[in-house]
Amino acid sequence: MSYPNRKKVVVIGAGFSGLSAATCMAERGYDVILLEKNEQAGGRARMFHADGFAFDMGPSWYWIPDVIERYFNRFGKSVNDYFQLKRLEPSYQVIYSKDNVLSVPSDYRELRTLFETIEKGSAARLDAFLTEAAYKYKTGMGEFVYKPSVHIGEYAKWKLAASLFRLDMFRSFSRHIRQYFNNPQILQLLEFPVLFLGAMPSKTPALYSLMNYADICLGTWYPMGGMYELVKAMVSLAEEKGVEIRLNTAVQKLEGGQGRVSGIKTASGNIQADIIIGSADYHHIENDLLDASYRNYSAAYWRKRTMAPSCLLYYIGIGKRLPRLQHHNLFFEEDFGRHASAIYQSPAWPENPLFYVCCPSKTDPSVAPAGMENLFMLIPVAAGLQDTEEIRENYYNRLIGKLEEFCGEPLREHIVYKKSYAASNFIADYNAYKGNAYGLANTLRQTAFFKPSIRSKRLKNLFFAGQLTVPGPGVPPAVISGQVVADYICQLK
Ligand SMILES: Cc1cc2nc3c(=O)[nH]c(=O)nc-3n(C[C@H](O)[C@H](O)[C@H](O)COP(=O)(O)OP(=O)(O)OC[C@H]3O[C@@H](n4cnc5c(N)ncnc54)[C@H](O)[C@@H]3O)c2cc1C
Repeated sequence: MSYPNRKKVVVIGAGFSGLSAATCMAERGYDVILLEKNEQAGGRARMFHADGFAFDMGPSWYWIPDVIERYFNRFGKSVNDYFQLKRLEPSYQVIYSKDNVLSVPSDYRELRTLFETIEKGSAARLDAFLTEAAYKYKTGMGEFVYKPSVHIGEYAKWKLAASLFRLDMFRSFSRHIRQYFNNPQILQLLEFPVLFLGAMPSKTPALYSLMNYADICLGTWYPMGGMYELVKAMVSLAEEKGVEIRLNTAVQKLEGGQGRVSGIKTASGNIQADIIIGSADYHHIENDLLDASYRNYSAAYWRKRTMAPSCLLYYIGIGKRLPRLQHHNLFFEEDFGRHASAIYQSPAWPENPLFYVCCPSKTDPSVAPAGMENLFMLIPVAAGLQDTEEIRENYYNRLIGKLEEFCGEPLREHIVYKKSYAASNFIADYNAYKGNAYGLANTLRQTAFFKPSIRSKRLKNLFFAGQLTVPGPGVPPAVISGQVVADYICQLK
């Protein structure tokens, strides 16, 4: 329902950040319309159904559950009001070779024992490493990520000025962990969570050992029904708060005039609003929807950014069970440095890729027909590469070959469903800059106030949210991003 005296807000994009921003603004008494170009909300976390399978299209790791709980608590709700979370055991398995597989237990005592068997003395060092990581998590996730980062002064006022050093903002993650551990398997295990941030451990601030705290101490969870349950929950809450969600409604242009966005052009007509929050990819909003004179950043600025990787993905239905797979399977058989270099240093298709296989049907019978497996296979690749059918088919054959080798049984003839997804799909579906999968990387130079600003410098009623601004890529950061921008706008009055 629309109230004539209320201020009107338009949010562009119904991913996690847009849903979060829209719901927070509605809670504060604004009339909110959420415009989404696709026929489904959820953005990169949409779901599709085919031949009895339910495929989550994007995120599969439910980490940092307290951030999501805190979001629902804000509205007097809890995650439990919407879906059931299950902690995974083991958290995941890492495949170094067919016969060298590390199953990572969720129980900390068991993990310590495992570390000790790999590197003598490493269990005690893990305790020390995690004590520090816990401090970073509590300070970082408690205060740091909820800052709008519009002005460096926010950090001066805060006790953070002193703690910036303790938070390890200026040292790299890879140097940090090498002070504690030497064994290559342990190093790879602890460097893996940082890959979620979209950059090499050597370019990521050591602050992000907080991700290890999240992994080891807070656990790996799964919402029964699939990750899309979180989207459904957020949509339901948004609608309860009065947000009007208009699907199949792409914004085509933001008109400017007198220092404000004066009109929003969509295929189904023009809309006016007092406040606009762009939660689609920042680059798309600036470059495709705004005239050049209204943009915050130049083309050169964007060219110099380190984008998080794109992905080559396969959604596969297999007509039998695969006992050797766990829910999360990291295939780290190949050289990590060479693959990373093909992503960040000399962007190219990787010669021998590392890859990840998610098999949610291990935990959740609702995502595959009885006796079958639902597989999501992911190769991280550089943003900006051209993908062709031939390239997709080539990597598909290699991955299936690797899986057959690991599982020790034939798979090809048991595949009952197959679909690939890559950079060109990210561009077509989400207007993703260079086909990025998860935004702008959290590098040393792209964290906090070094990120694109949530505020337009030229149009005073235009704001930004989402994975290309603060706090960064990932589901919990996207949910935080919407809250940060809404709280920032509300305190401006
Ligand atoms: C393959 C993959 C795996 C991932 N794995 C994980 C994981 O395991 N764990 C994790 O935490 N994170 C993961 N992520 C990252 C996480 O999914 C994203 O960071 C998060 O979903 C981004 O949310 P967002 O709201 O910023 O953007 P989006 O989800 O992209 O939402 C933006 C929305 O804007 C819409 N839009 C674009 N242009 C317009 C327009 N002109 N008009 C109207 N609407 C428009 C888009 O359609 C989209 O719905 C993964 C991402 C991908 C792609």
